[in-house]
Amino acid sequence: MASTIQALWSRAEAAGSRNSAGGPGGNSTNTSSSSHGGGMTPAQLTAFRHWMSLVNADLMRWYGLSLCVLIFFFILFHVSRTFMHLQGRRGMMGKMVAAPFRAFRKIALRKMPKFTSNGHFALIATYTGLNVFFAVYRTGFGGIYGTGFIAKRCAWLALCNLALVFLLAMKNNPIAFITGYSHERLNVLHRWAGRFVWVQASIHVCLATRLRQEDHTYRAGLTAWLFFSILFFCSFAFIRRRAYEYFFIVHIVCALGAAAALGFHEPKTYGMVLYLASGMWIFDRLVRFFRGVHYSKGTKATIYPLPGDAVKVVLNKSATFQPASHGFINIPSLKLFQSHPFTISSANSLEFIVRAQRGFTRKLYDRAVQNPGQSLQCYFDGPYGNVPDYRRMNRVILFAGGSGGSFSFAIATDIVRNLKRCCVESIEFVWVIREKSHSKWFEKELEELRNCPVVNLRIFVTREPSDLVNTHPESPTNGTAEDLHRSLPIHDSTESGLTIDEKPGSSSGVHSNDILSVPEKALELTIDTRIKPLSRSGSVGSMSPCYFESGRPDMDAIVKEATRNANQHDLIAVGACGPTELMRRARNATAAAITTSGASISLHCEQFGWG
Ligand SMILES: Cc1cc2nc3c(=O)[nH]c(=O)nc-3n(C[C@H](O)[C@H](O)[C@H](O)COP(=O)(O)OP(=O)(O)OC[C@H]3O[C@@H](n4cnc5c(N)ncnc54)[C@H](O)[C@@H]3O)c2cc1C
Repeated sequence: MASTIQALWSRAEAAGSRNSAGGPGGNSTNTSSSSHGGGMTPAQLTAFRHWMSLVNADLMRWYGLSLCVLIFFFILFHVSRTFMHLQGRRGMMGKMVAAPFRAFRKIALRKMPKFTSNGHFALIATYTGLNVFFAVYRTGFGGIYGTGFIAKRCAWLALCNLALVFLLAMKNNPIAFITGYSHERLNVLHRWAGRFVWVQASIHVCLATRLRQEDHTYRAGLTAWLFFSILFFCSFAFIRRRAYEYFFIVHIVCALGAAAALGFHEPKTYGMVLYLASGMWIFDRLVRFFRGVHYSKGTKATIYPLPGDAVKVVLNKSATFQPASHGFINIPSLKLFQSHPFTISSANSLEFIVRAQRGFTRKLYDRAVQNPGQSLQCYFDGPYGNVPDYRRMNRVILFAGGSGGSFSFAIATDIVRNLKRCCVESIEFVWVIREKSHSKWFEKELEELRNCPVVNLRIFVTREPSDLVNTHPESPTNGTAEDLHRSLPIHDSTESGLTIDEKPGSSSGVHSNDILSVPEKALELTIDTRIKPLSRSGSVGSMSPCYFESGRPDMDAIVKEATRNANQHDLIAVGACGPTELMRRARNATAAAITTSGASISLHCEQFGWG
C-alpha cells in the first residue's frame, strides 16, 4: 500500500503542473477523465484521495498534540507561577529557578499594544505559527498537488480550532479550573481561536467552490460557513460594545447553526468532534442553569441609588465565596432574558456596585432612583473567577478605578476582618474615582479600612469640583438642581410608605441616614452629587481629607515604595481592577519592581469585560 501511495505521489508530483482545478487532491467530479487526476485512473484517484485523507488525519493528530503541548505549557506556566510565587527563593528549587523565572516574568508581564501582555502575545504568536505551519506542510502549496489538498487541510484545522472555541466558551471549563485563569481572562483566546476557524473555513470554501458539487454536502458546508461569517462579523468590538445583547444572541444561534450544518456536511469525519464540543458546551449551560436555580430560590435583589450613576445591589443571601469573585445577575422584571456579570464587592455577603451603562444597568439605575430600596426577584449564577489568596501575602498593593473598587474592597475587607489569620503586614490601597462623592459607593468598607492600622488608604479624585459635568445625557445627575427636582418622581413619603430599613437586605446599612424617606434620599443623593460634591456630610464626608488626593496616582512610585525594604522571602501581591490604562500601568509598574534576587511579586489584573 505504502509503495503504491509513494508511486501515486510521485506521479501526482510529475503531473502536478498539468492539473486541472483541484489537482489530484481536488474534488473534481469528472473522475472518468484521466487528465483530471494528473494522469490517474479513477481507481488511482480514489486511492490518492484516500492517501490525502490519511496524511491530513495524521497531521491533524500532530496539530492536536501540538495544541495539547501548548495548553500544557500554558497550564504549567500558570501553576508554576503560583508555586514559584509562594516558594520565593526558599529551598534549592527556589534558589535555582527563581532568577530565570522572574527574568522571564519581568518581560512577559509588560503590556504589549493591542495585546494583554507580552506573554499573551507570545502565546498567540505560537498558536498562529502552528496554524500556518499545519495549513501548508505537505500540501505542495497548492501548486503541485492541487488546491484541494489545502482546502481539505484548512477544513480539518478549522474543525480542531472549533473544538477549542467551544472549550474556551465554557464558563466552567477545565483549563480555567487547572490554571486558575478564569473564563473571562481566557475569553481572549476563545476569540483568537474563533478568528482562525473563520479564516480557515473561508479558505476551504473559496477553494472548494472551484470544485463545486451541487449536492447537499456542499450546501450544508456553505450554510455552516455563512453562519460562521455572520458570527465573525457580528463579533467585532464596535458591535459588541454597542449592542452586546444582539451580538450575544447572534453568537449563540450562529454557533449552534454552524455546528449543526457541519454535522450534515461531513457526518462521519466531523460528527464525533462536533458532538463532543457541543456536548461540553451544553453541559456547561446545564451546570449554570441548575446552579442558578439552586442559588436563586427566593432570592431578592434590593437596589439603592448611589451618586455617579451607580446602584448598590444587595441580595438577601449570605455567601462564603472567594472574595472578589463575580456572578451573573438576571432580574426578569427589568430584562427577562439578560444576565450580566458583576463582581461581589463584599467579603461575606452578596453585594454589588453597578455602574450604569446604556442597557440593563441603566434600567436598574433608573428603577433604583424611582424606587430606592425596592426588592426585585433575581437569579444569580456564580461564583466565577479565580483570585489569588491574598491572605498568604506579606504585603498587598491594590489599585482600583471607579467601580473596579468592588474587587479591591472585597479583598481588603476580607484581610482586615481576618487579620489574625493572615500573614499580611501592610496593604497599600489606592482607589481612583472621578468625584469625591463616589466614595459613598463603599462607605462602610472605607470606614473599616480607615480604622485598620495595616492599611494605607489613598483615594485619588480625578475631577475638580468645577469639572463636574455628568457625561451621560440621560443621567438625572446631569443638570441643574431645578432640572433634577423636575426629573425625579416626588412622591409623598408617607404615601409610598417606603423606608430602606423596611426592605429585605437593608441590614447591610447602605446609607448612614436611613431615617430619610426613600424618594427624599434619592433626591438628596443625586442633587448632592451635582451641586456640592466635595462637602458631603456623613461618615465619608467627615473622613479626614488627607485620604483624598487630587489627580492620578504615580503607580510606579507607589509600587516601588511599597516594595522597598522587602526581604527576599517576602511575598508581595499586586492586584488591579479598572480602566485599561490603570491596568496597563499596574502591569508595567509591577514588571519594573520584579527583581531576580528580591521579594517575590505577583500580579493579578481583573477586568470588567472580555479582555
Ligand atoms: C467579570 C466581570 C465583572 C464585572 N463586574 C462589574 C462590577 O462589579 N460593576 C460594574 O458596574 N460592572 C461590572 N462589569 C461590567 C458589566 O457587566 C457591564 O457593564 C454590564 O453588563 C453592562 O450591561 P448593559 O446592558 O447596561 O450594557 P450596554 O450599555 O449594553 O453596554 C455597555 C458595555 O458593557 C458591555 N456588556 C454588556 N453586556 C455585557 C455582558 N453581559 N457581559 C459583559 N459585558 C457586557 C458591552 O459590550 C459594552 O461594552 C463586569 C464585567 C465582567 C466581565
